[in-house]
Amino acid sequence: DVLQSAGDQLPRYVRVNTVMTTVEDAVDYLKRDGFSYLGQACRIDDLTLQRKHFVMDLHLPEVLVFSPKTDFHDHFLYKAGHIILQDKASCLPAYLLNPPPGSHVIDACAAPGNKTSHLAAKMTNKGKLFAFDLDAKRLSTMSTLLLRAGITCQQLANQDFLKVDPDSPQYKDVEYVLLDPSCSGSGMVCLRDNTSSAEQEANPARLASLASFQLRCLNHGLKFPRLKRLVYSTCSIHSQENEDVVSACLQQNPGFRLVSLLPQWPERGLEPLTQCLRASTAKTRTHGFFVALLEKHTDTVNLKQ
Ligand code: SAM
Repeated sequence: DVLQSAGDQLPRYVRVNTVMTTVEDAVDYLKRDGFSYLGQACRIDDLTLQRKHFVMDLHLPEVLVFSPKTDFHDHFLYKAGHIILQDKASCLPAYLLNPPPGSHVIDACAAPGNKTSHLAAKMTNKGKLFAFDLDAKRLSTMSTLLLRAGITCQQLANQDFLKVDPDSPQYKDVEYVLLDPSCSGSGMVCLRDNTSSAEQEANPARLASLASFQLRCLNHGLKFPRLKRLVYSTCSIHSQENEDVVSACLQQNPGFRLVSLLPQWPERGLEPLTQCLRASTAKTRTHGFFVALLEKHTDTVNLKQ
């Protein structure tokens, strides 16, 4: 059926870790390794690739796209931390938050750290990246990943983000927050049997409890006194965890508004939150995903100064 073939043919996305190398050098290495480079994609259809062909992504220039099931786990570039195996949609949050070098940033629910390493790349490994996670085992996987990726600007803490004190002096310069909290995972296409978890029955009580946790995290993230921008993401396709959470948060925090994201992106948040992005196998050739970017009104910032 349609979903099966979509899942089956999800491209293999690779993010170039610009802390260790450049896109140009990674492309050259891959060409010498027997892959043929077709340049930058212009349309979503260009992401449908044969055998050893690859392209640069049309939306995210640090993402390279290969044919489905291309395996990089034993590849030199992966083992050396020059490339990160990460779905294109999950590269959106750090790309859109785009914290500048030297900035202070929080990754609220960080493990296993793919988005943390992407944030560090945006910061050119300069500044302070506070990363929290409740799960010690996932945090230890994360330290290995960050070590291999050459990242040194992070401070990891095995801590409940909801208990992090926004008024603590160590976070006084935090201007950027990435929040990718636990979610139902309903957007993940299972590559083993090519079914999306959404096809399994959505459990209303579980969704409600996840949504309430997500909203608490979001409200908490907005409390850091110098915050400029917060990016919120899930790998869920349920509006209860996405648009509904963001709408409720905006109602409770009138000092913040949504930033209109990538006009050229083919799938928007559900009405009226069309500033946000959605992703899916059908429209963006990725796992199902949602992303919203909140920013503090400048007039509110001025009042506080
Ligand atoms: N951002 C990660 C990445 O890109 O690799 C994936 C994060 S995953 C969707 C959500 C994470 O939130 C899990 O690792 C989970 O342990 C963590 N988590 C759940 N509740 C938390 C809390 N209250 N405080 C901090 N982390 C929490």
